[in-house]
Amino acid sequence: MTKETLSKFSKDELIGYITSLGEKKFRAEQIFSWIWSKNARSFDEMTDVKKEFRNFLNENCQILDCKIKTRQISQDGTIKYLIEFQDGLCAECVLMRFDNRSNLSMCISTQIGCKMGCKFCATGKNGYKRNLLAHEMLSQILLCQNDTNLKVTNVVFMGQGEPLDNFENVKKALFLINKNLQISIRRITLSTSGIIPKIYELSNNELIPTLAISLHSPNHKIREKIMPVEKKYNIDELKKSLIEFNKKTKDRITIEYILIGNLNDSKESALELIEYLKDIKCNINLIPYNSTSDSEFKKPDKKTIMKFKYLLEASGKKVTIRLERGADIDAACGQLAGKIR
Ligand code: SAH
Ligand code: SF4
Repeated sequence: MTKETLSKFSKDELIGYITSLGEKKFRAEQIFSWIWSKNARSFDEMTDVKKEFRNFLNENCQILDCKIKTRQISQDGTIKYLIEFQDGLCAECVLMRFDNRSNLSMCISTQIGCKMGCKFCATGKNGYKRNLLAHEMLSQILLCQNDTNLKVTNVVFMGQGEPLDNFENVKKALFLINKNLQISIRRITLSTSGIIPKIYELSNNELIPTLAISLHSPNHKIREKIMPVEKKYNIDELKKSLIEFNKKTKDRITIEYILIGNLNDSKESALELIEYLKDIKCNINLIPYNSTSDSEFKKPDKKTIMKFKYLLEASGKKVTIRLERGADIDAACGQLAGKIR
């Protein structure tokens, strides 16, 4: 008999399940708090739950249905985990600490592999295996909290997979991260390569995270070369959807722009980007290209990156350069390939 996985449940669902076993509602609330607030790794730690019921839980239930397979720690403190799910498939997630901030950001995966096939990304190269379920997304956070005894404060949907290609599970995960882990929706960011109908849907969702768009080029021809999604959902349509999204939330959209040497790092590209973003309330996050194995692209030199940044800033937008985290352990953006098995 497979054990019931308790981390699948919202609070109300857990109350429903535990009371169906003949226990009181407060028992469910105790267990809920052990799992979601007190980092309990086992039922035996739940000392205020009576022994007989803990024995029952040990025999019939489990807290999580996945485990940490490997852990790599970068010199900068970033930790990359390979998580193994119940069916033996694996995905990666990354915990990022920033020295001068108390924030602890967790970058989670939403799929095993990815269908989108962006040319610069290691995840896309491995093909697609399956969607992750909502609780498998949350489990990545729980496992890492259990492992470090730290509380995650921010979540970014920027690991392996395209979140808007797994929207039903992602919507549920947004709800559970907010309710079970008590993380404000304003501290959650979702990054997408631009599946336009789902951007509209997201703008109508009850909980709307900060939206990050993997733009990488405002030029149809260039974008099409590096992102197959451009063929179906082109940048003109994308722009309309972002303007609509702006109307629904006060937060600025983050425009992600990988700077790739001799491809999209010229003055003309910067000017084209300024023009494209003119009517969009956004910040720009420049990501110097991170190399992946067998890659045909290269990172621009420092001078080119700074020049590109200044040009954009002259348009009045806030521009940041994404810190490269965990590159020595292949945990930086686009390097998450994950051994699938
Ligand atoms: N699939 C979603 C979210 C995961 S990718 C998306 O594409 O938005 C997270 C970010 O890393 C995206 O902005 C992606 O474009 C970027 N990325 C992918 N490969 C990269 C690479 N080699 N160097 C730098 N950033 C990369
Ligand atoms: Fe998928 Fe994002 Fe990688 Fe593109 S960049 S292949 S959408 S994970």
